[in-house]
Amino acid sequence: MEGNWNRVLFANLSSGEIWVDHYEPDVWKENLGGVGLGLFIFEKIAKYVAPLSPDNPLVFTVGPLTGTVFPNTGRYSVVSRSPLNGAIAEGNGGGFIGNEIKRAGFDAIVILGAAGAPSILRIGNKIRIEERPELWGKNYFHTEAKLRSEDGSRVAGIGRAGENCISIAAIINDGGRAVARGGLGAVMGSKKLKAITVRGGKEIPLNDQRSFFQVSRRTCDQLVGLTQVNSDKNSSTAYASPVARPSYSLPRKDNDAHCANCVTGCPRAGGLKWDYLGSPEPQTIASLLPFTDGRDFEQIARWNYYLNDAGLDTLSMSKVLSILKLGIHEDGLTPSGGNREDHFVHKVEDIFRNVENGDASIMPFVLEATTPENFPDLLGKTNKKQSTGTNKITSMDEIYNSLIVCKFAKLGIDTLSEALRFSTGLDYSSDSLLASASLIAKRRESLNKKMDEF
Ligand code: SF4
Repeated sequence: MEGNWNRVLFANLSSGEIWVDHYEPDVWKENLGGVGLGLFIFEKIAKYVAPLSPDNPLVFTVGPLTGTVFPNTGRYSVVSRSPLNGAIAEGNGGGFIGNEIKRAGFDAIVILGAAGAPSILRIGNKIRIEERPELWGKNYFHTEAKLRSEDGSRVAGIGRAGENCISIAAIINDGGRAVARGGLGAVMGSKKLKAITVRGGKEIPLNDQRSFFQVSRRTCDQLVGLTQVNSDKNSSTAYASPVARPSYSLPRKDNDAHCANCVTGCPRAGGLKWDYLGSPEPQTIASLLPFTDGRDFEQIARWNYYLNDAGLDTLSMSKVLSILKLGIHEDGLTPSGGNREDHFVHKVEDIFRNVENGDASIMPFVLEATTPENFPDLLGKTNKKQSTGTNKITSMDEIYNSLIVCKFAKLGIDTLSEALRFSTGLDYSSDSLLASASLIAKRRESLNKKMDEF
């Protein structure tokens, strides 16, 4: 195989077994990678059990272009059954761990079972499940710093939200990148898996290296001159706010703020004192703005950090807090007294305390906050309506999400199929990519229908 490794790593946390599986070439061509590959693997092994059952698989995937020089392909995808609504949850996250998974020699990592004690899965020269009880109860950034300091691995893991199986828990990686919606962090927590750590270093095998480098170079040149990302900034909700606008700068290409091999940078706030802790994305800024006094933009960055550290999806949590009417007087969005920032943090800490003490009274608010009615476009791919033909996932969305090519780049289907031909040697075309998109959509629909019955 070229472009892909044809290697899917399985780790059963219940039995401690670790093995590698391989599929026929057609599987790779038809399912592309990312979400498409994740749905294929999920369907192959699904037992249609409850989302927090040990038998619910948690599937991490990358794509045929991940880890290569082709630009804006550094993301990764996660698929499982959502604890929010029982439908398929799929999400993707940026940063560097996607590249690392591919360069470790794997196209996917499948987590099965549940560990007896809090554990991590370490992937490097050796692959092993390690019991790490001392990390349980710790928030995400402490966990990432500790694990990175041990061998330089990239990390994806959960905070206390995932540990407590709160159904808006995210999987966080690389200093605040998140696979956010759908509660995939809760699935990870139910398996007592605090984190996966990955260290790669392998070169990806390419079918026609010279031609692949040429199309990659041409695409990079096009993207470097792209004004699209800047126009996205100008039309974003965050940029519309006079509070956010002065701090908002594009593109971001410094430090760890961008994904691996990104040449554009994306709409994130810049120039903040808290930059290095992961600056908020536009939707997060917009969703947290109502809780601020409208003057302190740094406050949003700190709350974004706090929620990422706890391992909570920022958008879902802001919705929950809205429903709880956090500090909102009848006459407006003013705090009910005291320090607004303390109030925000205390409210979230109250929720944690209650959940840790076995009080599940927050869950109805979480469910209310994340119903399709309350969250029409942010619940994304966990919305069961998508399985009934009312979804808004376009064929290009399916292709981007399965090749794990950043949507901000808005790359054309001809460019993508050309790059795929040179990387894999398989006869990809625009038509074959559209056929894959249709196959992937049908598989999601069929999986959701089956899960409706269980
Ligand atoms: S534009 Fe943003 S999300 Fe996309 S690859 Fe670059 S840094 Fe990542």
